[in-house]
Amino acid sequence: MEGCVFCKMFTGEVPARKVYEGRGVIGVLDIAPLFGQGQCVVIHRRHVDHFYDLDDEEVAELFAGVKAVARKIGAVFGGPHVSIYSRGMRISDHAHILVYPSTGDGPIDKMMAAFVAALTLRGTTPSELDAMAEKIRAASGPAEGDPAI
Ligand SMILES: [Zn+2]
Repeated sequence: MEGCVFCKMFTGEVPARKVYEGRGVIGVLDIAPLFGQGQCVVIHRRHVDHFYDLDDEEVAELFAGVKAVARKIGAVFGGPHVSIYSRGMRISDHAHILVYPSTGDGPIDKMMAAFVAALTLRGTTPSELDAMAEKIRAASGPAEGDPAI
């Protein structure tokens, strides 16, 4: 798409610190990382906002890139984990996944653990969990026109 900085990263018109190039995707070092040094972002070439708007083959391309970049980050940082995060913002029009080294006890990890603890199962009854699972199970998840599901 004309004028899109991320499309220009694919073609090289806009410089990017590429760490990976794969079918339909690139992995670049994030210049404004949310999760600290070494965070990369794996971006799909096609213009869609969410990874779940990609077709199945494109999702496979995106996550093949995520896997490759995660292994590279793991090799460089050597921590116990490499984590991923998909918020669907910051990079409009291109489905993407953040990939970052995780020490398991760094400030971001502690913040995420506290956040998750605050939002999760406190006060939720088993019947409420059953009802939520049923609601998600029954939802019509596939995008309109998606023949794969
Ligand atoms: Zn674009």
